[in-house]
Amino acid sequence: MSVVTCFVGIGSNLNEPSRRIAESITALDNISAVALECVSSLYQTDPMGPADQPVYLNAVAQLSTSLAPLALLDTLQGVENEQGRVRTNERWTARTLDLDLLLYGDQQIDHERLTVPHPGMTVRSFVLVPLLEIAPDINIPGKGPAADYRATCEDFGIQCVEKRHD
Ligand code: ATP
Ligand code: MG
Ligand code: MG
Repeated sequence: MSVVTCFVGIGSNLNEPSRRIAESITALDNISAVALECVSSLYQTDPMGPADQPVYLNAVAQLSTSLAPLALLDTLQGVENEQGRVRTNERWTARTLDLDLLLYGDQQIDHERLTVPHPGMTVRSFVLVPLLEIAPDINIPGKGPAADYRATCEDFGIQCVEKRHD
């Protein structure tokens, strides 16, 4: 069974975001086919989309997994559901937990349920800043070094609010 390194973008702005993020990380680490390798610092950002919602807390986790991409997506969505995620028809509304699969090894995936690399990752500070903190040399398949996008991505007022524990 092959093991693949993945990066997951984590966001929350409802129901005690720091607890939602901590519990989601514990939940991922407790899945036998997933090993947690590293988690970034926590960052606060202004909301994307509708402005009448609380600020976000964001992080990026590095995992290694033997799960296939869609099985990993199902797993991530299961953890979102456990943390009280309510799906609405409007995009980018407030949520208890969002787990987006940013990178799955060096694969490019174009499936109706799953696009990898995540299409928003090059324009969002709340993805790029925590990702570059834990993986400064990471390459985005088809797009080149993630670091090349840091200067031009949207800032969202990003601030580090809790340093990573080594
Ligand atoms: P965005 O993807 O722009 O950050 P979002 O995270 O708010 O928006 P969700 O409501 O969490 O969007 O997910 C909508 C759908 O996106 C999911 O049902 C899932 O099938 C699909 N999807 C496609 N690619 C990915 C990916 N790389 N990671 C997570 N979900 C994905
Ligand atoms: Mg998202
Ligand atoms: Mg999502």
